[in-house]
Amino acid sequence: MSDLHLLTITAARAALDAGDITSVALTEALLARIAAVEPRVHAFLTLTAEQALEQARAADAQRSHSRSGQALGPIHGIPLAIKDVICTSGIRTTCASHILETFVPPYDATVITRLRAAGAVFLGKTNCDEFAMGSSTENSGFGPTRNPWDVSRVPGGSSGGSAAAVAASEVPGSLGTDTGGSIRQPAALCGISGLKPTYGRVSRYGLVAFGSSLDQAGPLAWTVADLALILQVIAGTDPFDGTTVPHAVPDYHAALTGDIRGVRIGIPQEYFGEGMEPGVEQTTRTAIAALGDLGAELVEVSLPHTRYALPTYYIIAPAEASANLARYDGVRYGPRVAGNSMWDEIERTRGSLFGPEVRRRIMLGTYTLSAGYYDAYYKRAQQVRTLIRNDFQQAFATVDLLATPTSPTVAFPIGQKVDDPLAMYLSDIFTLTASMAGLPGLVVPCGFSCNLPVGLQLIGKPFDEATILRVGDAYQRSTDWHMQRPTL
Ligand code: GLN
Repeated sequence: MSDLHLLTITAARAALDAGDITSVALTEALLARIAAVEPRVHAFLTLTAEQALEQARAADAQRSHSRSGQALGPIHGIPLAIKDVICTSGIRTTCASHILETFVPPYDATVITRLRAAGAVFLGKTNCDEFAMGSSTENSGFGPTRNPWDVSRVPGGSSGGSAAAVAASEVPGSLGTDTGGSIRQPAALCGISGLKPTYGRVSRYGLVAFGSSLDQAGPLAWTVADLALILQVIAGTDPFDGTTVPHAVPDYHAALTGDIRGVRIGIPQEYFGEGMEPGVEQTTRTAIAALGDLGAELVEVSLPHTRYALPTYYIIAPAEASANLARYDGVRYGPRVAGNSMWDEIERTRGSLFGPEVRRRIMLGTYTLSAGYYDAYYKRAQQVRTLIRNDFQQAFATVDLLATPTSPTVAFPIGQKVDDPLAMYLSDIFTLTASMAGLPGLVVPCGFSCNLPVGLQLIGKPFDEATILRVGDAYQRSTDWHMQRPTL
C-alpha cells in the first residue's frame, strides 16, 4: 500500500485488520509526511517519534497475538496527535506558553489514559493559542501554525495545530479542546470534521484548565465516522472529574445509520446575516438544503438571546481563567525569572512569561471578579447565561438539533486580526452559544468559498451526540467535501 498518510482512521483500521499494513509502517509513513510538510505547517510543538514507534511495535505485537479472536478496539495501532494543553505523562506539556515551556506532567489526562489503553499511538503534541485563548493559533508563544489550504492564512484556533495536522495529512486524527469554539472553528477553517462533546460527557481531568465551566476535550478527523470511534473511547464518567455524568455511553458507530428521514432540524434565524461573508452564508444554506433533500424536516427557530453570548462569554471565560492561571507563579511549574523578593519573582515570572492575550484575560477576569464589580459583571453574566440556555431548551422542545454556520469568515490572513482583539473574538460568534449552554457541537466540511473550506455546525441536545453524528455522517455519505485534501 502506498500513501499511507492519506488513510482515514476507518480505512487504516480495515487495512490493519486485514493484515495489509502494520502500525509501524503507518507510523513511519506519517513521520515521513511530518518531516516533509512540517516546516511549512508548524502544527507540532513536540514530536514523540521514538515513543510512537515503540507504541506501534507494541500494538503490532498485540495484534499478532490476538489473531485467536480477542477483539482489538477500533483505534488500536492508530496514530493520533494531542493538543498541548492535555497532560501527557513524561512528555512536555506547554500550553504553547513560555510559562510552562519546561513543564513535564507526572501523569496522563484521563482522555490519554483511555486512548493509551485502547492502543492508540501518540505522534506528538500540537500547537495552539497560549492556554487555548484565541481563534487563530497566532497567540502561541512558539509561533503560529499555518493553514494547509493556504499557508499565508491561519488554521483557526485555539486547536489550530490539531486541525492543521489532520488537514496536512500528518496524522489521521487528533484531540483538541473547546471552551468557546476551539475545536469547531479550526475544523471549519481547515476543512475537516470536529466534535465538541456535551459538557460532562468527556473527563476534563488532566486538561490544563482555562474556563472550568466550559472546557471540553474532543476529536478532530476527516470523517464523522472517525470522530465516533475516538469519542467512544474517551467518553464516560470519571471519578477524577466530578462534572462528568454517569449516563450510559451509547454505541456511536451503531448510531450512524445513514437515515435522517423525519429528523427535525432547526435553523436559528439569528445565525445568518450581519457580519457574515456572503460566500460562507451561501455555502452553509446550500448544505442545510441538502439535509432537507435527505429527508430531514427544516424548521425556522429563534434563539433571541444569541447577541448577548459574546459579551457574556468574555466575562465568564476570563473570570474563570484568571482564577485558574493564578497557580503559575514560577514556584511549582515551569521556569522562574529571578527577582529581589518572592513577590518580585512572581511578578517578573508572570509579567514576562505570559503572552499579551493571556495577560489581558487575567486582568479582565480579575477586574470582573473583584469586590464591587462582581454583581455587575460576573453574576449578571451568569444570569444571562441562563437565558441563553433557556433559548436552546425552548428550541429543542420542537426540533432534534440545530444547523448553523461555524465561523462568519473563511480562514483569514496571518496577522490580519492579531492587533484587534474584538475582531478576533467575533470569530467565535456562532460557536460560543453552545459552549455557554454546555451543548454538543459537530462541524462537518460543507464546501468552499474563495477556495477556502467552510464548515457546517450541528448543535445537539445535551448528551445527544448520537443524533448530530448521525446527521453529519448522513451528509458525508452523500457529499465528498470531507475527502478533499489540500495540495501542500
Ligand atoms: N476563541 C475563544 C477564546 O479565545 C475560544 C477559545 C477556546 O475555545 N479555547 O476564548
